[in-house]
Amino acid sequence: MKDLYKHISLTLKTLRRERGWSLDKTAEETGVSKAMLGQIEREESSPTIATLWKIASGFGTSFSSFIADIGTDFKAPIHRSGKTKHLHPEDKKIRVMPLFPFDKELHFEIFIIELLPGCEHLSPPHKHGVIEHVIAVDGEIEILVDGTWQPLKKGEGLRFNANQPHGYRNLTSTLACFHDIIHYPE
Ligand code: MN
Repeated sequence: MKDLYKHISLTLKTLRRERGWSLDKTAEETGVSKAMLGQIEREESSPTIATLWKIASGFGTSFSSFIADIGTDFKAPIHRSGKTKHLHPEDKKIRVMPLFPFDKELHFEIFIIELLPGCEHLSPPHKHGVIEHVIAVDGEIEILVDGTWQPLKKGEGLRFNANQPHGYRNLTSTLACFHDIIHYPE
């Protein structure tokens, strides 16, 4: 976990330096408080998944760049299980696992996301042009798009413009799992 927090902290510091953003400016762009951003940079606090999404969206960058790194080498196959540690101990109802983290050449990232019973997770709008493909692989989920929760059964997919508030929820009493392929504009 220490490595993960260090990676998040480094990514945040690097992004701020590249943009020349102060903590104030970053707080303004991401909607995350200056105090919280400072704590994350000093590795004193671990961000929740919701907070990390806000930061990634504020910078217009991918979520997985904060939690994982993958080499850009397409010569050899890469086998990954997607199994990862809990990002944040308080995120007991949602697990976000980067199966294939963001790649600069391919412009997408693929997540396995598990929603425990009763989980409702709202996501801030991503940068203009970001498209999500949600594929239900186990259980039943509902996706909030254009202000409406749309049911999605196992084997069904939904593609939508993610530059709007959107969300994922599991109203059933069993675990639900979906894949989320997020494509970023060049
Ligand atoms: Mn999203």
